[in-house]
Amino acid sequence: CEEELCTSSKSGGSVCNKSSNGHHNKYGKEINTKYAQYENAIKKAQEEYENCDETKCNCHAGVISADLKRFKAGISKSMIQNVKSKGTKYQIINNRLYREKSCMFPARCIGIEHFLLQLLPKLPDMDLIINTRDWPQIAKNYGPFGPVFSFSKTSDYYDIMYPAWAFWEGGPAISLYPRGIGRWDQHRNELGKKSNETKWVDKSNLAFFRGSRTSAERDPLVLLSREFPELIDAQYTKNQAWKSEADTLHAQPATEISFKDHCNYKFLFNFRGVAASFRFKHVLLCKSLVFHVGNDWQEFFYSSLKPWVHYVPVKSNASRDELKILIEFFLENENLAKKIAENGFKMVWNNLKMKDVTCYWSKLLKRYAKLLQYQVTRDQDLIEISN
Ligand code: UDP
Repeated sequence: CEEELCTSSKSGGSVCNKSSNGHHNKYGKEINTKYAQYENAIKKAQEEYENCDETKCNCHAGVISADLKRFKAGISKSMIQNVKSKGTKYQIINNRLYREKSCMFPARCIGIEHFLLQLLPKLPDMDLIINTRDWPQIAKNYGPFGPVFSFSKTSDYYDIMYPAWAFWEGGPAISLYPRGIGRWDQHRNELGKKSNETKWVDKSNLAFFRGSRTSAERDPLVLLSREFPELIDAQYTKNQAWKSEADTLHAQPATEISFKDHCNYKFLFNFRGVAASFRFKHVLLCKSLVFHVGNDWQEFFYSSLKPWVHYVPVKSNASRDELKILIEFFLENENLAKKIAENGFKMVWNNLKMKDVTCYWSKLLKRYAKLLQYQVTRDQDLIEISN
């Protein structure tokens, strides 16, 4: 609606006309402008979207090319040496796997080795530096340069992304998953079943988030939820670093909620944590509409998910008003919400099976090994890892 909707009345208040969308007052004008933007963005993204090739984990293959591009001139032994301290050293020699004796996060190493061991019979010889920290290691603008594998990065890093350990083991431990979130195969089955059983109409009309304060980008939604509990239920839980209510933004820590129970809500928020948060793939399997905040932090499968097609993109600096208008838009346009929710589900269900994760590891390592310009020789400091 282009018209000015409100005029000042003699008493000093505002007199507002009803807009074409049925919204009143000045806020209504902002709503109408935003609604038109969302409608256009959805229409454009969905018209332009082309399905990816769903065979042999090809939907994600572009990421391998992009990550290895910086190494296309080849990888020398000295480059590996340069970055040795940035991760855990592994070797594959004659189809056997070797690793440094100690691993900073043993459960994470198990989560990585699960995939490497399966693939061993088909892998060529190679040296690998695998970073098990959350944070990427090879900044574009400073520090040493060489190939380091990390689970997540932003465009400021040259790290090569690999499928996180947590697809199998070593994810964050919470009370509901005391051994850590892992076993993506089991979560997939449980969430697939739950989302098929839960009809859209039976889901609660709320926007939902549960998690700890690993990033302050989560604050605006949590604060908005306190103001509009009938629209949003976003609360902070404790994590291991919790000391006082200051760490849950001056409120009591909320009870943790299982992934399955997230599917009871129509709108689910995903935020970055320290790096990318593991919850993105889980919430996408709910057949709820996923609001993904920020797009800096990536995992290997993120680029196959398109904004407005598979999820709703939200700027990391979105104001509270913007967040509110966005949620209200989808409450009033449930058919659009359902369609995007369905698309997001399908992308993850079809292209992020355990088989696709293994396939990605395999493609990645074979292409990486081709870049090595030297003969890999056994490092006697490493120990053999076997099943
Ligand atoms: N989590 C969960 N239920 C909760 C709180 C957290 O399933 O009530 C999961 C969450 O989805 C994530 C992990 O536990 O995969 C850790 O969440 P947190 O918010 O603490 O940290 P993040 O890894 O997102 O930075």
